Amino acid sequence: MEGPVAMTSSASPARPTVLVVEDEAALRRVLRAALDAHGYDVFDAGTARQGIDRAAQHRPDVVLLDLGLPDLGGMAVLRRLRAWSRAAIIVLSVRSGDDDKIAALDAGADDYLTKPFATGELLARMRAALRHVARLEGDAEPAIDVGDLRVDLARQQAFVRDRPIHLSPKEYALFATLMKHAGRVLTHGQLALAVWGPGHAQRVETLRVHMAGLRRKLEPDPARPRYLVAEPGVGYRLRVDG
Ligand code: CA
Repeated sequence: MEGPVAMTSSASPARPTVLVVEDEAALRRVLRAALDAHGYDVFDAGTARQGIDRAAQHRPDVVLLDLGLPDLGGMAVLRRLRAWSRAAIIVLSVRSGDDDKIAALDAGADDYLTKPFATGELLARMRAALRHVARLEGDAEPAIDVGDLRVDLARQQAFVRDRPIHLSPKEYALFATLMKHAGRVLTHGQLALAVWGPGHAQRVETLRVHMAGLRRKLEPDPARPRYLVAEPGVGYRLRVDG
């Protein structure tokens, strides 16, 4: 299995650190063992306040944050962390309405997982989130490749298997945004903001139309998208693994 990505090329091969903020002791233990076995240094916290303290103390690369904590809401923790931290934050939530997930993503979470989740899925999401943080910290890349897809940001051109694809300006903006955040879920609101700018955050239908156009042009089988996948009720994700 692929290990976690290196955070910086100059550092010694340090293990990325992850902070698990979760009040269920059994789940904390399982996560600690699994993450340790996959090359992460793990810290954990059973309450929101402890989580905030540990984050300040250890400066983790990734935070796994349970939204249902006994002392403070997970959303409050998220906002506190985002005030200073650039850690990748993955929210863990119980099956509930999409509103929680959307609120968490809009408040700066990188991704969410609904409990119960498979370890493989968690590790894949963590790799995607770490790649994204590393990209934010490094120089902007002129081109991004994901599988057969490529976006050349300098030339504003999309490619499938090196073949240039004509996209409308809105389709290109949507595609470039998804490629820049490859592997992460983006909410309808975040995508609409990137494509139309402020004031058009509710254009979910229009977004769907442009997404259908993109799939026709980029997907091997538009009816069964391999890359441009919907996260029902939440948004879209450009899938990088599998
Ligand atoms: Ca909980």
